[in-house]
Amino acid sequence: MSKNHRIMSGMRPTAKLHLGNMMGALMNWVKLQDEYECFYSIVDWHALTTGYNDTSGLKGYIREMVIDWLSVGLDPEKCNIFVQSQIKEHAELHLLLSMITPLSWLERCPTYKEQLRQLEGREINTYGFLGYPVLMTADILAYKADLVPVGEDQAPHLELAREIVRRFNYLYKPVFPEPEALYTEAKVLPGIDGRKMSKSYDNYIAISATPEEIRQKVMMMVTDPARIKKSDPGHPEICTVYAFNKVFAEEERVKELEESCKNAKIGCVECKKRLADLLVKFMEPIRERRISLEKNPELVNDILNTGAKKAREVASKTLEEVREAMKI
Ligand code: SF4
Repeated sequence: MSKNHRIMSGMRPTAKLHLGNMMGALMNWVKLQDEYECFYSIVDWHALTTGYNDTSGLKGYIREMVIDWLSVGLDPEKCNIFVQSQIKEHAELHLLLSMITPLSWLERCPTYKEQLRQLEGREINTYGFLGYPVLMTADILAYKADLVPVGEDQAPHLELAREIVRRFNYLYKPVFPEPEALYTEAKVLPGIDGRKMSKSYDNYIAISATPEEIRQKVMMMVTDPARIKKSDPGHPEICTVYAFNKVFAEEERVKELEESCKNAKIGCVECKKRLADLLVKFMEPIRERRISLEKNPELVNDILNTGAKKAREVASKTLEEVREAMKI
């Protein structure tokens, strides 16, 4: 690969991926693989920071995740796809970086406090959970990635990674580049109940959903509550079906729908049926690729092994430099 910048990004295999993940992150990853040298990791150790007490689904989610990634268009010829726990250098670097990271930097991380509040009762007041941003830093630095695609909510983690880099380079030797945020345009999809699409709200449509499941979920979508009869003018801006159309339909069609809804020319049931058709059609090639990958586990294994081999080559070289800089 002769691309000038290197990108590292990962996803935690804690649930099935949904259309929100697909349009929000994965489609961007697909674009980025043409422009940058990309390392995409299924970060299974991160999954343990909040789910250490039940690991029964982990292997299954990893498998599903890699199949989803490949189905939506990540191409192992263009990017490196691997599972984090297959590259032990992440753990070594995490340990070494944890030695130089002041506790106060981790405790003040806004996402830490926020997650502690959100996941109250899950007993995540652990050493591993507090150190999660250091592990994330190790993931990035193992590849000396200089760009990291982030959403606004992950910006504090990246800032922390940059602080750790500065500290390491100052204490020992300038080994690492300071990774920069790569803000990409993410398409936001609501869940079928209008809240954020999320596994915890059970309001999602999985990438692996069958056409029947997609249709069922679309028919359950919340619409404008003020539209009781078809003759009531609608307010598309507050309707989930409209929000989906804005992401998946062509501009012309979105305009037409807005006009028809506001002027009560279309009923919600008809509108939902049209959206379901659109989504089923959009997902058809993805579903076909999914089915063929499911039938070919050896191919998936090969892709992961090749990705891990390439990742290990880069990460082990970085670790050599780190040990040399730290004189250990
Ligand atoms: Fe939503 Fe469509 Fe009903 Fe308008 S017609 S409220 S856009 S479902």
